[in-house]
Amino acid sequence: MPLTELAANLHMHTPYSDGEWYHAQIAEAAANAGLDLVIVTDHNVLVSGPARYYAHAGRQVLLLVGEEIHDQTRRPQKNHLLVYGAEAELAPQAAQPQALLDAAAEAGGLTFLAHPHDPPAPLVREADLSWVSWEVANFTGLELWNYMSSFKSLLTSRASALRHVFNPELGITTPFPEVLTRWDELTTAGRRIVAIGGADAHGTEYRQGGLRRVVFPYEFLFRQINTHLLLERPLSGDYDHDRRRVLDALARGHCFVAYDGAAPARGFRFSATTERGAAIMGDDIVNRSGLTLQVGAPAEASLRLLRNGKEVQRWEAHSHASLTVPAGEAGVYRVEAHLAFKGRPRGWVYTNPIYVRAG
Ligand SMILES: [Zn+2]
Ligand SMILES: [Zn+2]
Repeated sequence: MPLTELAANLHMHTPYSDGEWYHAQIAEAAANAGLDLVIVTDHNVLVSGPARYYAHAGRQVLLLVGEEIHDQTRRPQKNHLLVYGAEAELAPQAAQPQALLDAAAEAGGLTFLAHPHDPPAPLVREADLSWVSWEVANFTGLELWNYMSSFKSLLTSRASALRHVFNPELGITTPFPEVLTRWDELTTAGRRIVAIGGADAHGTEYRQGGLRRVVFPYEFLFRQINTHLLLERPLSGDYDHDRRRVLDALARGHCFVAYDGAAPARGFRFSATTERGAAIMGDDIVNRSGLTLQVGAPAEASLRLLRNGKEVQRWEAHSHASLTVPAGEAGVYRVEAHLAFKGRPRGWVYTNPIYVRAG
């Protein structure tokens, strides 16, 4: 049976912290943008009430509520953590990253290091909000690509800021190499680290002289960097049941990060098969007598297979490719797809790894 794919955005804010729109408006924007799932993540406050299914424009959007937690007494306020599925207010633990991660796990929650690399933008008085406590363990994954961090990195001069405020897509190209490298290092060292991508949408109005403009409306951002989840069966429409299944897929890394603004990535697949079984992105699989990797791309792209963070194969394709891994060979395999958008090469899809273990 084919997999069910959910286009999701997993990082956004409402007026309960520093965003502009409430949950119902956000759900409408998500429906308009063609998303199936959003997780609202206000800063240091868990607002569970509005979590439910919303229907708009002939589309059902599952809206879950998580939280983005950080220590507000820290200067600068680094170490932002996205927490999903922990039905408890954990913000009081923010000063101790490891204690916070352990408490979230204890509460059944998933944890993702938010915008792990986040350069400062002095022009708009934005500090560096990177993750710095890399000694921690016991987290689910990291936010490989955060749209607003990428945008922040373009605000290097007034000219660059003005150019990109009106045409952000000119500057959004790939996740930060620092985050990709960190992710590969962690997985190559034997850790399971799930990558996600998100908007970090706030809907903020920027004022410059007489100019007022919402540069990044929620709906715009929901068409840019998303996370696509893969489920074995369609959702049921029952909130509690579907919430559990979505969180389970995220926990397992059954998902990929996509820059849908460059080209819609629905349909991208990466899987592995052996004589004994099959795996999709995020899974482990044992390789005793050889293994085949399958990659399917819904648009023409330049594809790269990486093993332990190093490219082992590169090819051009717009359909399926099949690659063979020799018997007994282990490694952390993931796929990247790149394509041209508005005349520039872009990172398009970053799959979670398939963890191939020797027999
Ligand atoms: Zn943040
Ligand atoms: Zn945020």
